[in-house]
Amino acid sequence: MELLFSLGLSTLLALVAVYKKALTHFATLLAFLSSVVITYCGGIFAFFILAMTFIGTLVADKISIKKKAEIFDSINEKHGRRDVVQIFCNVGVATIAILLYGIFKDEKFFWVYASVMASSLADSMASEIGVLTNGKTFDLRTCKIAEKGISGGISILGLSASFVGAFIIALTAMSFDLSLSLFFIVILCGWIGAFIDSLLGAFLQVKYRCPICQKLTEKHVHCKHETVYQSGIRWLNNDAVNLCNNVATFFISLAILTFL
Ligand SMILES: [Zn+2]
Repeated sequence: MELLFSLGLSTLLALVAVYKKALTHFATLLAFLSSVVITYCGGIFAFFILAMTFIGTLVADKISIKKKAEIFDSINEKHGRRDVVQIFCNVGVATIAILLYGIFKDEKFFWVYASVMASSLADSMASEIGVLTNGKTFDLRTCKIAEKGISGGISILGLSASFVGAFIIALTAMSFDLSLSLFFIVILCGWIGAFIDSLLGAFLQVKYRCPICQKLTEKHVHCKHETVYQSGIRWLNNDAVNLCNNVATFFISLAILTFL
């Protein structure tokens, strides 16, 4: 019965993804399988959190889609439909957390799951909505004004958006347990996770420079020319940074929940 229930809800989510053309085919399949595991192990409340993360990301995409197109086309390596690597890097760690909850029946892991999902949505909202800022974007590494949309750049709007993302997931998680302290732990961990994402983006993520227009970018090709390596670890792209952010949030929230 529980399996049937999980399959049903996950099919619904996958259909929305297909209808919204949000994911590639393989990404849809992987998201569907993750959703089945999450719902089967974590029940309806874990599914709510997954669904809110997905809807929140879609809404953030929608809000900024026109204005940001040129920014993302210019700077970010991947944009548009999310592919299988992106889904793995964004949902993999959360799936492990809820799997642990299913195995050990320890509620701590449910809250780790919620925290990791909060950091994923916080990061998505920060990058999708942060680029719309009319204010300044600062590079965390150089502390100088940076180009909008570049990883490691922070703005007031981006920080606020990431807070809203974490808040939405914390609020959704309240359906599982009306605990105010857990509510704040999820917001805190989600927000810290998104900030770690920015730190890694600023200090370690690979960046290239376009030899034609001299802009800093995450793309291999810019202005129809191959870009030149500028800084960062060569294999550490945006997907790897997201994975690191989720792993960090997993352990930070686990530590807080264990020792608090
Ligand atoms: Zn260029």
